[in-house]
Amino acid sequence: MLDKLIRNGQVLDGTGKRGYAADVAIQGDRIVDVGHLPGAQAEVVIDASGKVVAPGFIDMHSHADMLLPVAPDAESLIHQGITTVVTGQCGASPAPLLEMTRRQVIEMIGEEDVPMPWNEWSTFGSYLDYLQKTGISVNMAPLVGQGMVRSAVMGFSAARPNEDQIEAMQHEVVSAMEAGAIGVSTGLIYPPGSYAAMDELIEITKPVGERKGFYFSHIRGEGDTLLEAITEAIEIGRKTGSPVEISHFKAAGADNWWKAGPALELIDKARLEGLDVTADMYPYLAGSTGLVALLPEWAQEGGKDAISKRLLDPETRTKMTGDMKTGGFFRIAEWDKVLISDSRTREYAGRYISELSEEVNKTPYDWVFDALLETEGEIGMIVFMMSEENVRMQLPHPAMMIGTDGVGLAIDGPLAKGVPHPRNFGTFARILGQYVREEKILTLENAIFKMTGLPAKKLQLMDRGLVKKNHHADLVVFDAEIVSDLATYPQPFQYPSGFDHVLVNGELVLSQGKGTGARPGRMISR
Ligand SMILES: [Zn+2]
Repeated sequence: MLDKLIRNGQVLDGTGKRGYAADVAIQGDRIVDVGHLPGAQAEVVIDASGKVVAPGFIDMHSHADMLLPVAPDAESLIHQGITTVVTGQCGASPAPLLEMTRRQVIEMIGEEDVPMPWNEWSTFGSYLDYLQKTGISVNMAPLVGQGMVRSAVMGFSAARPNEDQIEAMQHEVVSAMEAGAIGVSTGLIYPPGSYAAMDELIEITKPVGERKGFYFSHIRGEGDTLLEAITEAIEIGRKTGSPVEISHFKAAGADNWWKAGPALELIDKARLEGLDVTADMYPYLAGSTGLVALLPEWAQEGGKDAISKRLLDPETRTKMTGDMKTGGFFRIAEWDKVLISDSRTREYAGRYISELSEEVNKTPYDWVFDALLETEGEIGMIVFMMSEENVRMQLPHPAMMIGTDGVGLAIDGPLAKGVPHPRNFGTFARILGQYVREEKILTLENAIFKMTGLPAKKLQLMDRGLVKKNHHADLVVFDAEIVSDLATYPQPFQYPSGFDHVLVNGELVLSQGKGTGARPGRMISR
């Protein structure tokens, strides 16, 4: 007697090969047989007639670690078929938190109305222990954020580290990896991580390479400096022996759209050289981050209090405005393309900065400065800055995988607020609906490969990412004819359609399209 049997589905096994009709037998947390199994009996039989049975999706870029302690069921993830998340991205992870800088770091990465139990952990290991105690619905492969590592050693200073400080940072990285981190991530537009020059990044990534860990990077620029930034990430991989993942790949800003092709060519060249360089993306034309990211790098030094002081000073405002017009990580040319996503001042959410600033007769720059002061930085933005043509070109690239850049939200409850980016709810469904079924940019087999077998291979997960005997039973059952994302920019709180069942380690986390509340997720370590 089996625990579970998925009958009569079309199995797309995650290798990219053509699908075939088969039953999938599950015992405990493993797939024990795949094939025509007419005599098999099971406690739970799932009829998958007319449906696709695929490996559970691997989200290569997730910030779910910032919310899982308070939202362990991660509904918006399981509702789009995700069974494993790679977290600790963009230089930010919930740990390590050192006493000296604890308050400032939490102010920087936390959200005030999300009741994260920050006092429950300090080291990277104690954070993972906390999640294992409370349980989570999905598997998690965590990275340690270089921003956390740097702030733990150097606070919010923009200075170059001395030798002792380099050693101390290396020590933090090694401790995190010994506790279970699969590598390190950088977010090189976010202070204090962005203060690290390439040589510093190479030094702290060396112990990662030695331990066969990964270097994930939100690179130093996705617009004006895209090509230089990709080159830097590749160089860090070359010098440290760490496989490289370019996070949320994009060419930002209409002036820079032409760079998407050359940027992919840089990745191709590195791969031809034998380096392991890959990328991930979400299929949308807008990105999203905190509004504070619009400020010049120098203006973000020193944490929240220091930023507030600058925002209050008229002379500094003039200087910031000048720098924001000519360069920086985000050079905004059109303010009617910047939408407020969530804000302590709730009325701003869902509105464009062009209208908001006009209404009160301010320049968009002054509006941004005032809004940052008023909300104490508790305000986010969605910026429309990518091209549809590039999305279509990038998706089929052989090194391209999928990442939501999202967290696990739910359509109801205390976290259903503001207008978060629809990628939180729709990313994987949008690829399967829009880009596979409607536009035929990818075949279904290839799309599934990019969501499962390819990331599993990259992460060297030997027993996940395929529908195969002895693999973990991370599985998704969906209807390829109707799968669609429903989340939109004005109304993001909508689960996709078409997903029937999702299993994590043999347990149903989504059954008949509904979350079960089960928390069978595990930590995946190096
Ligand atoms: Zn990022």
